[in-house]
Amino acid sequence: RANAEKFEFQAEVSRLMDIIINSLYSNKDIFLRELISNASDALDKIRFLRSLTRKFWVKVTIPSSRFRLNWTKKRKYFLSVIEVGMTKEDLIKNLGTIAKSGTSAFVEKMQTSGDLNLIGQFGVGFYSVYLVADYVEVISKHNEQTVCFLNLILWYVWESKADGAFAISEDKWNEPLGRGTEIRLHLRDEAQEYLDEFKLKELVKKYSEFINFPIYLWASKEVDEEVPADEDESSDDEETTESKTSEEGEEEDAEKEEEKKPKTKTIKKTTYEWELLNDMKAIWLRNPKEVSDEEYTKFYHSLAKDFGDEKPLSWSHFTAEGDVEFKAVLFVPPKAPHDLYESYYNSNKSNLKLYVRRVFISDEFDELLPKYLNFLKGLVDSDTLPLNVSREMLQQHSSLKTIKKKLIRKALDMIRKLADEDPDESNDKDKKDIEESGDSNEKRGQYAKFWNEFGKSIKLGIIEDATNRNRLAKLLRFETTKSDGKLTSLDQYISRMKSGQKDIFYITGTSKEQLEKSPFLERLTKKNYEVIFFTDPVDEYLMQYLMDYEDKKFQNSQTLSDASKQAYMRGKRVLEINPRHPIIKELRERVVNDPEDESVKQTAQLVYQTALMESGFLLNDPKDFASRIYSSV
Ligand code: ADP
Ligand code: MG
Repeated sequence: RANAEKFEFQAEVSRLMDIIINSLYSNKDIFLRELISNASDALDKIRFLRSLTRKFWVKVTIPSSRFRLNWTKKRKYFLSVIEVGMTKEDLIKNLGTIAKSGTSAFVEKMQTSGDLNLIGQFGVGFYSVYLVADYVEVISKHNEQTVCFLNLILWYVWESKADGAFAISEDKWNEPLGRGTEIRLHLRDEAQEYLDEFKLKELVKKYSEFINFPIYLWASKEVDEEVPADEDESSDDEETTESKTSEEGEEEDAEKEEEKKPKTKTIKKTTYEWELLNDMKAIWLRNPKEVSDEEYTKFYHSLAKDFGDEKPLSWSHFTAEGDVEFKAVLFVPPKAPHDLYESYYNSNKSNLKLYVRRVFISDEFDELLPKYLNFLKGLVDSDTLPLNVSREMLQQHSSLKTIKKKLIRKALDMIRKLADEDPDESNDKDKKDIEESGDSNEKRGQYAKFWNEFGKSIKLGIIEDATNRNRLAKLLRFETTKSDGKLTSLDQYISRMKSGQKDIFYITGTSKEQLEKSPFLERLTKKNYEVIFFTDPVDEYLMQYLMDYEDKKFQNSQTLSDASKQAYMRGKRVLEINPRHPIIKELRERVVNDPEDESVKQTAQLVYQTALMESGFLLNDPKDFASRIYSSV
């Protein structure tokens, strides 16, 4: 376009687009679900605004919350239209840069694995359009602009051939269908199959069945049309039917009529109309008994934008009744997201979507679940919460406390069940029962998998959630001197306790191998006591909160001397450890003055361990961080 303003993509975007456009990735279908998912997200946002504000323009510019899917063969493009628009700034920001963390890791991974399936989770789903198109236009008309200028509506066209640059121009002749955003894909020659309406229907069914807005396709339809019959033909053409103009019992009249009216015949004719492709099943409103595993899995895929091959590890679908009524579906994903702990202390984002009477309110509501359960995905639909209040007011609504409490309870039950149903988890005597109850193979090893992915969250829960500490402690798994390299639980530990043993023994350190050499350990194993290995950086911290379990006290096998304890406490204060910190500085000086001083060495070691532990969930690579600190000491 002549008036276009040119922009360069952020380097990372450019790289990503190169990879996509040259990709041999065979599942090109995914572009459609990404477009639909974006449209659905945008509508969610606008629906919330609409329920909130009473501005005139909202009513005018959003005639209905639906988006359509259209295609035309002739013009060789494929487009999606929704009624939510972007401003020029939005276009530059949303379709030119990447805001989310972890995207570069994804780009890196894609370069090697070439698997694009998870693209939607990384905030770059839009670019998957370049799997099938070599030129893309995004035409957007923002609601505010529509109001301000009424007849002088501006819309913007974003366009790119994935050649490192994009352009934005104002447009006045190329009117999009309705207000909103229209995405025009100029399909590559080898992607022409996406112009086939049956292909599109199949894709929507496969990936977007659980999208909460109607998806329409401009689809062909065979209709019967009556046309005047040609006398000669009508008599020997079996497919046509003569129009009925007579009724039985009135033969004479009918005969007369027949003479007057010309004969007609029915022929098949193709017309086009908007066809609804999904039935917007709100799975959570249905009876759990009537929802199949496959439906839950598909629902999870669409909710979590996690289109991997794996099923969620577990789910819980329930209705809460009483003062506060709500329905909810919770999922344990098959895998932890790449940044689950990376941003643990910075973000409060829960992964639950909140609906009030089926209206989407928010997916950034941090009052629904405590932080440590942020790995769960799911949805809550409340009948009790008010609809037309601000997010802030909702956040303070008293019902939320009750909802949160029930959600935690259900979530922990669900995880507990995952363990209970796993034959690998049980004692030998229950094992038989579980195996007899069928589908045990499918459940085998599921809890170990859960623990591997989300064990740290359970530990953080023990630290943070005093109310549920005992329930969470039941979910703990660890290795011990007697567990034979397998994971075991506190209950199992207790069942093996020697008669007369009062305490639960544990030992903390950086690795099992290191701990096995510890003289402290030997002291206990000699007496045939079982000792728990806690080797996760977070464990030492954890044990400050977990004092006892089932009336048994936890006993650290390396009882610290007072001096070490003091050093430990000092180390703990060095949270924001850096080489210039006074404690580190002092230590360094003392090491320089007297390299052989044992207590200094010990203190340095403790500061190191503390740094390791405390940074365990603050930083990406705690080991590297801690060893840097250590060497600076
Ligand atoms: P994500 O959906 O994870 O944010 P995408 O790359 O899929 O990442 O989309 C980037 C952004 O572009 C979205 O966050 C949204 O702001 C904007 N966007 C994309 N498609 C639409 C659309 N159809 N309507 C409005 N905004 C859109
Ligand atoms: Mg997206």
